[in-house]
Amino acid sequence: MSDELEIYLYGSEILRTRCDPVDSFDDSLRELYEGMVRAMNREEGIGLAAPQVGRALRLLIARDERDGWPRVLPLVNPELIFLSRERGGLEEGCLSLPGITAEVQRPVRVKVRYQDLEGKEQELEDDGLLARIIQHEHDHLEGILFVDHLSLIKRKLLSKKLKALQQRAREV
Ligand SMILES: [Zn+2]
Repeated sequence: MSDELEIYLYGSEILRTRCDPVDSFDDSLRELYEGMVRAMNREEGIGLAAPQVGRALRLLIARDERDGWPRVLPLVNPELIFLSRERGGLEEGCLSLPGITAEVQRPVRVKVRYQDLEGKEQELEDDGLLARIIQHEHDHLEGILFVDHLSLIKRKLLSKKLKALQQRAREV
């Protein structure tokens, strides 16, 4: 379907853009959210940020399975207001970097303040997978990718794959 959102790949300029705050909480925001949920589910992801579908806006979505009822949370204008000093390593991947995974060290617990689709302020705190997804997706809003967190040596090992992706991004 032509109105489905496409995922932008590593090498696309928008993935290196610092995104703008969302200031109108209207139908177009809900449509963007719903389009992102479809794109994420289609690609079997667990999180997605607006720049990955070509929109430089501070909106991310994250799969939330905390209470055993999977749903997809929209976080608008998220701010990480607490990051634990305790860090942990976890294997990460990214829909914009298909075929690449690597262990990334990040704070274990986060607290995030954000707005929902109606513009109402919300807060959540987590120390599980959701905390990880939110940090990964929040990075996207700053133009940061998970491979940026890797050591030079690890990135060197991935450089062939990264170059191939860049080439693909140029061809799309
Ligand atoms: Zn990502």
